[in-house]
Amino acid sequence: MNRTYRCLNCTEHTVSRPFDTSHLSKHCPVCDSFERLVNDAVFEQFRTFEESPPESLSWSKLERQEKLLISEQVTRKGRSVEDFSIEA
Ligand SMILES: [Zn+2]
Repeated sequence: MNRTYRCLNCTEHTVSRPFDTSHLSKHCPVCDSFERLVNDAVFEQFRTFEESPPESLSWSKLERQEKLLISEQVTRKGRSVEDFSIEA
């Protein structure tokens, strides 16, 4: 089964690969640079959290990288967002 990976820089470019991993590092033809392409399932979860932030976290205060990491843990590791508590 193919998975979609999305460029984190432009969020426009996607590639399809026949394996499932958290991300790829690849040249993006849209950005014309070497970028991280994240599993689109993770990115979808990230977007869901952006639209309705989890109550257990100060979502808006997190760095984008932290948000993506939590999205990945929830999507791919089956963790609950309540497992994450960010120290203020
Ligand atoms: Zn790009």
